[in-house]
Amino acid sequence: MLTVIWLSAVLIGAVALAYVNASGRVVTAALAAALIVAWGAHAVPGWLALILTVVFVLLAIPLNVPALRRALISDAVLGIFRKVMPPMSQTERDAIEAGTVWWDGDLFSGRPDWQRLLGIPPAKLTDDEQRFLDNDVEELCAMVTDWETTNVYRDVPPDVWQFIKDRGFLGMTIAKEYGGLGFSAYAHSQVMTKLSTHSGTVSVTVMVPNSLGPGELLAHYGTDEQKRHYLPRLAKGLEIPCFALTSPVAGSDAASIPDYGIVCWGEHDGRRVLGLRVTWDKRYITLGPVATLLGLAFRAFDPDHLVGEREDIGITCALIPTTHPGVLIGRRHMPLNAVFQNGPNSGKDVFIPMDWVIGGQPMLGRGWRMLMECLAAGRGISLPASATGMAKLAVRAVGGYARVRQQFNTPIGRFEGIEEARARMGGNLYMMDATRVLTATAIDLAQKPAVISGITKLHLTERGRAVITDGMDVVGGKGICMGPSNFLGAAYMQLPVMLTVEGANILTRSLIVFGQGAIRCHPYVLKEIEATREADREKASIAFDAALFAHLRFTISNFARTFVMGITGAHFVRVPAGVAPEARRYYQQLTRFSAAFALLADLAMGTLGGTLKRKEKLSARLGDILSLMYLCSATLKRYEDEGRQHGDAPLMHWAIWDAMFKAQNAFEGVISNFPNRLVAAVMGAAAFPLGRPYVVPPDRLGQRVARILIEPSPCRDRLTSAMYMSRSPDDPVAQIERALAAAVAAEPAEHKLRAAVKSGRLDAKEDPEAGIDVLVTRAQAAGVITPAEAQAIVATHELTAKVIRVDDFAQDLGASEMRIGSAAASAPTAPSVRHKAAA
Ligand SMILES: Cc1cc2nc3c(=O)[nH]c(=O)nc-3n(C[C@H](O)[C@H](O)[C@H](O)COP(=O)(O)OP(=O)(O)OC[C@H]3O[C@@H](n4cnc5c(N)ncnc54)[C@H](O)[C@@H]3O)c2cc1C
Repeated sequence: MLTVIWLSAVLIGAVALAYVNASGRVVTAALAAALIVAWGAHAVPGWLALILTVVFVLLAIPLNVPALRRALISDAVLGIFRKVMPPMSQTERDAIEAGTVWWDGDLFSGRPDWQRLLGIPPAKLTDDEQRFLDNDVEELCAMVTDWETTNVYRDVPPDVWQFIKDRGFLGMTIAKEYGGLGFSAYAHSQVMTKLSTHSGTVSVTVMVPNSLGPGELLAHYGTDEQKRHYLPRLAKGLEIPCFALTSPVAGSDAASIPDYGIVCWGEHDGRRVLGLRVTWDKRYITLGPVATLLGLAFRAFDPDHLVGEREDIGITCALIPTTHPGVLIGRRHMPLNAVFQNGPNSGKDVFIPMDWVIGGQPMLGRGWRMLMECLAAGRGISLPASATGMAKLAVRAVGGYARVRQQFNTPIGRFEGIEEARARMGGNLYMMDATRVLTATAIDLAQKPAVISGITKLHLTERGRAVITDGMDVVGGKGICMGPSNFLGAAYMQLPVMLTVEGANILTRSLIVFGQGAIRCHPYVLKEIEATREADREKASIAFDAALFAHLRFTISNFARTFVMGITGAHFVRVPAGVAPEARRYYQQLTRFSAAFALLADLAMGTLGGTLKRKEKLSARLGDILSLMYLCSATLKRYEDEGRQHGDAPLMHWAIWDAMFKAQNAFEGVISNFPNRLVAAVMGAAAFPLGRPYVVPPDRLGQRVARILIEPSPCRDRLTSAMYMSRSPDDPVAQIERALAAAVAAEPAEHKLRAAVKSGRLDAKEDPEAGIDVLVTRAQAAGVITPAEAQAIVATHELTAKVIRVDDFAQDLGASEMRIGSAAASAPTAPSVRHKAAA
């Protein structure tokens, strides 16, 4: 009996010490104390006590004496690591080392510090930024319609281009000292979001100069002279920039671009100068066809050793005026019917002076590093904002449409099937917006969160696509027939562009999120890798030993924590004081998932090693878990930052519940497909000892979310905040808003009317040809409704008729009517609104 008690105490003590990640010395002292008790109290038979003591001494001495530990264990493991570690190319190293680790590091640690996250002040706009959004962005939106831009001008109209330049839209991220607007990442994100709720083409046109490209590269790496010359010109739109990396043979694998520049002497401005003879062939380059300044990435070679020892210097970025002899700007691509400028360009043996390399000669060969560092931040702003903007448009307009469009005498929004789609739309949008804002906040805190920006781009564009696809299903034929009154079809067509650019989504999910995260965010893996590369053997041995044993303790601790939290349902996990009580359990469950994820990641890396890189499906699912935990963190922070809005609670609950369920499925996907079944069994038993905690979000919760979308309310306004709301009578979203308000106001009267028909007091079949106004007049005469109610019903029907109308065209689909300057510059059924609005 005493033996059982002693063994149980040792086991519980060991789990407790592992749970708190106790140091090696504390564990040694605790085990020594347990052995003293075993001997003193005769808790175990003498022979067993002796064996345990010998084992303890044999392990404790080498493990607690660093020099011995290194000689006996760590150096041998280091030797194996050195042999099996695949060599890392400079481009891989640059990609992995770029950027910083932020909240992703907490999620990888198994112990996220929620207090730290919640303590970050909410994002805020300055007065100038708010004014710009309220005035300049509003004005810009009022000047364009997506239909006219796409089908009449096939470009941003000239006066709108000028407005964009004059108001500084192209220099939002350029510092004020260079004439730019010097906006924060959050303000930049707000502007892009709002523009994307109205016009995809304008949004992309503004996006590119503010994203990864000449402006940003110059700001970080340009010489003083380059900055002084170009930044003010870019800020004022005197230069239109583009950035050309992609070539026909190198898309996702951009580091393998075949474009090259040979270091040589040449003639420039009548002088003999050192420079490069560059040959390139690029495609898909946004703003390329209208650019005046071409940012170009190519691989530099120095066969004559004019600048140093190396022949293959590496990827280099230069700025070339497009008027430079030899620069060939190609024709235009047509990206999914969107008309932002995009096309190929090329050049053969074009001589450029060394001054045109961004950062000058010292930055030769540093291009990949520059691109990776800028991408680490930039990827988290523009595309996530655009996807969120489009999702806002879909949620607001589709919600309103579902309320006013009736089938079977019922608003379609009341059918459960439509409700289910709207629940997904609302929940996804709440989480997308939260994530967009949190990532922009991180960038404003001077972070360059490489993994987080990849997660944000990947998941917000994917969710944006999901929201819009759901929206298309809800609106049926209205979304399919294109024309000025189709408010969703263009977004549906254009959204895939976002999935492809700045790291195509399948690649990002399969290779980047976990691949980069496992090395960057894990507390010890990068340290271990760095130790294997250290040339000084003594230094390498010390560094590797420290990282290896900390890593082992970390894994054991996460094992204990995962299991304990699994069997207790994480009910005892500490949560920061004062968090919303209704969200408390999510913090606990996320801490549990974080520990389980850290354990799975370690077991996967430990057993699969380098082959994990090729197991893309496992890597993608591990990345999904990390991503979904990040999205949940952002959602919880949003809920707190916005003062725990009671009306938003269903959105928060639905979004987190759905994401946790998906994260659980991703765990399941890793465990059930893990090649080593023994390790898989250990993973499963540790992570879910009592089964899976999450099921799909309940239907009743989905119903509460769906209702938010079809009723005007502060909650609906918050969900779709930063959305451009046109005041034009022809704007299809504005028409929906008016019809929705009217439908809500007329609803009691509609009820009375329906009840009268049902009870036989009114005969709706008396004159089946007659319109609603006749029925309403009879209802009014019969005293069923008041004159004001009659008017409200008629007005609702008129407004609804406008909303459900779709455009039609002449036999040639209106081609002859859609010419700039023609009397009917737009489709026959909807007059041009651009000039009216601008006037
Ligand atoms: C509208 C538009 C605008 C663009 N603007 C610019 C610009 O301004 N400047 C610029 O330089 N480039 C630009 N691009 C190029 C863009 O960045 C590339 O399209 C992108 O890098 C993908 O390359 P790709 O289209 O050749 O696809 P591919 O590289 O052929 O990829 C095809 C598919 O394979 C997947 N894939 C590839 N490798 C892997 C892997 N290892 N594991 C799993 N899946 C993988 C990808 O995810 C993708 O789904 C633009 C492209 C478009 C369409």
